[in-house]
Amino acid sequence: MSDQIEKLAQFMTSSLEEASLNYKNDLKILPTVKMVKVGGQSITDRGRSVLFPILDELVSNTKDHQILISTGGGTRARHSYQVGIDLGMPVGVLAEMGGAIAVQNARMIQMLLAKHGGIFLDHLEFEKIPLYLKLGCIPVMPGMPPYSFWEDIPEIGSIPMHRTDAGVYFTAEALGARSVLFIKDENGLYSEDPKKNPQADFIPKISARDLIEMDLGDLIIERVVLKYLQRSTHVEELHIINGMVPGNITKALNGEHVGTIIHK
Ligand code: ADP
Ligand code: MG
Repeated sequence: MSDQIEKLAQFMTSSLEEASLNYKNDLKILPTVKMVKVGGQSITDRGRSVLFPILDELVSNTKDHQILISTGGGTRARHSYQVGIDLGMPVGVLAEMGGAIAVQNARMIQMLLAKHGGIFLDHLEFEKIPLYLKLGCIPVMPGMPPYSFWEDIPEIGSIPMHRTDAGVYFTAEALGARSVLFIKDENGLYSEDPKKNPQADFIPKISARDLIEMDLGDLIIERVVLKYLQRSTHVEELHIINGMVPGNITKALNGEHVGTIIHK
């Protein structure tokens, strides 16, 4: 009996969980792709004075890197959540509403990048990512993962746990990328929100597990991503940088540590 037939027989007769233990998803579809999230509240909402230089820096890097941009939601998403919660909407409806804002931001960023090959990428077009990158395009994808009405029940409160930070993480993991770059408006992770406490301590590097154990009141990244990072096959680290400092994006894309690295 061939090895594969033997494995199949074993797979069919044990529980799925048990059978799957002998396999690993080792296909790295696009291991060199640079996954970049452009923050919603932290970047896009700040308007042209902040967003335009960031897009220019990303474009200037496309000669050296294949970049896939994922968009955040931001203030309009927060507003939607607040109104939706007030009106008693279930979490799946809130996920749809928040997702629509990430779509708005992706549409605008795509238009801004149109002359450089920016192309709007619907979730359903996932398989076209390799082709678009090969053609030299800059795919711009709404960051919200498409759980929609099937969004998981939140551990705390009523807001969807899987928002745009989670979306870009899952995209990177599916494509086999090693690192995810989060472009935000602070130098990285601090012991507290630096906007509320400017004396907060900067944390340049930390593991997902240690960060969960610190149990900080507020984080620069969606908490749920830390849980998934511990289980990842491909993604080794999240790099959170201040995109408002010129040169940071280029350095980070070239593998330099400029912000906070949260590793597996
Ligand atoms: P995005 O728009 O990219 O989703 P968010 O606004 O959700 O970004 O998150 C980034 C913000 O998180 C920062 O602007 C910062 O004010 C805030 N923040 C909260 N807690 C922390 C922390 N512990 N360290 C750094 N920033 C924090
Ligand atoms: Mg956010």
